[in-house]
Amino acid sequence: MTVFYSDSYTVQLPPGHRFPMQKYRMLRDALLEQGVLRQDELHEARPVAIGALELAHSRHYISSFCDGSVDPKIVRRIGIPWSESFVRRSLASVGGTLAAARAALKQGVAGNLAGGTHHAFRDYGEGYCVFNDIAVAALALLAEGAVRRVVVVDLDVHQGNGTAAILGNDPRMFTFSIHGQKNFPFTKIPSTLDVGVEDGTDDATYLALLSEALPRVLRFSPDIIFYQGGVDPLHTDTLGRLRLTHNGLMQRDRMVMEAAHTHEIPLVLTLGGGYANPITDTVEAHVGTYRMVKEVFKPEMEVDSRGR
Ligand SMILES: [Zn+2]
Repeated sequence: MTVFYSDSYTVQLPPGHRFPMQKYRMLRDALLEQGVLRQDELHEARPVAIGALELAHSRHYISSFCDGSVDPKIVRRIGIPWSESFVRRSLASVGGTLAAARAALKQGVAGNLAGGTHHAFRDYGEGYCVFNDIAVAALALLAEGAVRRVVVVDLDVHQGNGTAAILGNDPRMFTFSIHGQKNFPFTKIPSTLDVGVEDGTDDATYLALLSEALPRVLRFSPDIIFYQGGVDPLHTDTLGRLRLTHNGLMQRDRMVMEAAHTHEIPLVLTLGGGYANPITDTVEAHVGTYRMVKEVFKPEMEVDSRGR
């Protein structure tokens, strides 16, 4: 399969910073070492074009973030110090999701080993998110006429407030989020379909809610599904407050993937959050997503590798 990655996804942070910046490189290495992905399946994520970014973000926010003149209040809200390498990461991450979306339209499924930055709004970012990769990619494909209807399945433990704010009123979009009802963001922006769950929710409860909601999402008849597969519902996550196991997360991924596969809807994988202690739990959970996609899309993958 085609998966986008860039070394620029990992930037230097001050010592003791809470954001698990190392997970991107660790995930790339783990996927290759465990034989889940081959080196030739990884493609360099290029910075997104500014014109595409403007579909979802204001010119002023884009230019001020890129040149470093962005309001310090916005930088504090994002929670990661501004640097040129952080700008490069932010642009490449959106570029990776847009490239993965184009690849998914051709190949059925593709991924980006970053992205899912769903707390980014039109004029500012928050919660470690600068630009909203899924909103940009969805609006770019719609603008090109490559798709007519788009679904976002956002299973990060935090509600996709930025995505809902940017895409919410667009009749071509269906946004779906399952999240911790009492968790950040404390002011939720309504998605098309929101399912808020209690702290401590376990595998069985979570999977039942997902299985109940998915048919409603599919009735929208999307031409593409963007999957924000954040792994922060994991029980060892320090921010998630839920009790999902590794197996539960993989079953969650399977449900979304089988829905896309069965209905032949192109699927785009993005990472989303993951703050487990130890960090290897987060990395292993993201590896699980790729193990599962390889299993669900096995027939396509075999054709793909024979075709090389
Ligand atoms: Zn999250």
